[in-house]
Amino acid sequence: MTVLRGARERRVRSGGIDLCVVELGDPDRPTVLLVHGYPDSKEVWSEVAARLADRFHVVLYDVRGHGRSSAPVPLRGGFTLERLTDDFLAVADAVSPGRPVHLVGHDWGSVQCWEFVTVRRTEGRIASFTSLSGPSLDHFGHWINSRLKRPTPRRVGQLLGQGAKSWYICLLHTPVLPELAWRGPLGRRWPDILRRIEKVPGGGYPTASLPSDAAHGAWLYRDNVRPRLRRPRPDAHAHAPVQLITPLGDPFLSERLHDGLERWVPRLTRRTLPAGHWVPRTRPDRLADWITEFVTAVEDGRPRAVPRGRHADRFAGSLVLVTGAGSGIGRATALAFAASGARVLAVDRDAGTAARTAELCRRGGAPAAWAETVDVSDARAMERLAARVAADHGVVDILVNNAGIGLSGAFLDTTPEDWDQVLGVNLWGVIHGCRLFGRQMAERGQGGHIVNTASAAAFQPSRVLPAYSTSKAAVLMLSECLRAELADRGIGVTAVCPGIVNTNIASTARFAGVDAEEEKRRQERGARLYRMRDYPPEKVADAILDAVAHDRAVVPVTPEARGAHLLSRFLPGALRRLARVRPPL
Ligand code: NAD
Repeated sequence: MTVLRGARERRVRSGGIDLCVVELGDPDRPTVLLVHGYPDSKEVWSEVAARLADRFHVVLYDVRGHGRSSAPVPLRGGFTLERLTDDFLAVADAVSPGRPVHLVGHDWGSVQCWEFVTVRRTEGRIASFTSLSGPSLDHFGHWINSRLKRPTPRRVGQLLGQGAKSWYICLLHTPVLPELAWRGPLGRRWPDILRRIEKVPGGGYPTASLPSDAAHGAWLYRDNVRPRLRRPRPDAHAHAPVQLITPLGDPFLSERLHDGLERWVPRLTRRTLPAGHWVPRTRPDRLADWITEFVTAVEDGRPRAVPRGRHADRFAGSLVLVTGAGSGIGRATALAFAASGARVLAVDRDAGTAARTAELCRRGGAPAAWAETVDVSDARAMERLAARVAADHGVVDILVNNAGIGLSGAFLDTTPEDWDQVLGVNLWGVIHGCRLFGRQMAERGQGGHIVNTASAAAFQPSRVLPAYSTSKAAVLMLSECLRAELADRGIGVTAVCPGIVNTNIASTARFAGVDAEEEKRRQERGARLYRMRDYPPEKVADAILDAVAHDRAVVPVTPEARGAHLLSRFLPGALRRLARVRPPL
C-alpha cells in the first residue's frame, strides 16, 4: 500500500471497540489527526499524510466498523456521534496526551469532527479543525429550519438544490438494500466509478475493505442524521479555530450550506477549491499546503494574515507564474494574485522590472515572490525556466502567458524578420509556456489553470495590424483547442482579449515600413491615444482573476473588446468594413 509507508501501527481501545491507529512523523511535533469519511478507511488520507509527515506528527485511524478497526455489536446504535466522540478522545489521549490535536476531517470524518469541536467535553483537546465536504448535522438542521420558517424563493431554491444532492442519504436509510449493493455489484464497481466520475487515481485506494466499510458505515447515517436534523443542538459553537475548505464541484454538498457559518464559528477561515468530492485523493498538494499553513499559524499563536484580495479564498497559497510581469497587464495581474495571498513568479525579459514586480508582490501580500529573467520566445531558456521552477517551487497552479509585443504596419511592409519577432514572442512564447508548464500540470494530475493573453485583435481584423492580429488569433484558437484537450484533467484554459489598455505597449510597439524617426512619432502618438482612453491594466487583472475563479473560456475586456466580440459573432460584415478604414497617421 502506498499509504502509510513507514507508519507505526497501534491499537487503541474505546468502549469495547478496537481501533486501528497509525502514526507518521515525529511525535514531538504538533499532532495532525486525519479522520476519514464514507465509504472510506484511513487510506483515503495516504497522499495528504505523506505530504504532512515531514512537518507534523500525523495520526490516522479507521473509524469503528471500518478498515482494520472492529465493529460494534449490534451495529444499530453503535455509530452515534457520542460513541464516535469517545473514540476520538481515546485516540487523542493515546497519541497526544496533554497536548491538543489539529483535526482534519473529510466527508463523514468532517461531520464527526464538527461534533468533536462543538461539544464541551472535548474543550482543550482540539487546537484547530480543517473541514472538508462534511457539515455539522446541527448547523445543517438549523440551516433547513431557518429556510422552512422564512421560505423566500431563493431560500426554497437552496433547500431544493441541497435536497437534490442528498438523494443517497434516503437510500442509505432503507434497510438491507445498501448492504446488499455494497457487498455486491456496487462494491465491485466503486473504484471504476470513482475513476470515471471524479478522476480519482488508483494506487492502493480504495482498499479491499470497501464493501464492509460501506455496509457498516450506513449506520453512521441511520444512527445520526434524522435525530440530529430534527433536533439540532442550540449551542453547537466551535471552541477552536476552523478552516473550511469547500470543493466547488462537490456533487453531494451545496456551497450555500455554509452560508452564515460565522454564527457558529467565531474564528473561521474559508477556502474554495475547483474540485469534486474526493479532494484528499485528487488535490493532496493543495490540501497539504493549506493544512500546513493553518496549523502552523495556530501553533505559532499568530493571528493569520488573511489576504483581502479578489478570490483570496481560492488563490491564497497557490503558485502563480506570470510572463511579461515587468509592466502593464502582467504587473497588475501579478499584484492582484499577490493581494489574494498567492505565491508569485514574476517573469520578464527585463530583469530590473521583473525584480521590482516581485518586490511589490511581497509588499502587497504575497507570502513569497520571485523574479526570473527569460525571453519567452527562446525555447531552451523556457525549458530551463520550467525545470528550475519545478525543482525550486513545485508545479505551477496558475500560469499566465502574458508577455507580448506590438507590431503595426501594412502586410506588404512587414518583413519576415518582423513576423519572426512578433510570432516568436506573442505566439511561440505562449506555446512554450503551455507545453512546458501545462505538461507539468497534466502530469501532476491535480488540476490547474492557464491564462493566455490574446487581444480583441484576435477577432477584429485590421489593415494595420496583420501580424499582431494573426499572432493573437492564433493564441485564441490555441487556447480553445487546449481547453478542450485539458478539460478532463481539471485544467482550465482562458483566452483574455483586452481592447485598448493604458500600458507601455503603445510606446514600445514597432511600426513596419517606416524609418526610426517616423516610428518614434507614431509610438508617441499611440501612447497619447492610450493615455486618453485611460483603461487601467488593473481592471484586466481583475478580469483575469475572475476568469480563473469561474473557469471562463474567452474573456473580452473593455467595452470596445466586448462590442467587437459581439459583432464578430453576429455582424462580421460590419467588422470587415471597419477593418478597411485607414487610421489617421
Ligand atoms: P507592456 O509593454 O506594458 O508589458 C509587456 C511586458 O512583456 C513588458 O514588461 C516586456 O518587457 C515583456 N516582454 C516583452 N517581450 C518579452 C519576451 N520576449 N519575454 C519576456 N517578456 C517580454 O504591455 P501590456 O499592454 O501590458 O501587454 C501585455 C499583453 O497584453 C501582451 O500580450 C499584449 O499583446 C496584450 N494586450 C495588450 C493590450 C493593450 O492595449 N495594452 C490590448 C490587448 C492585448
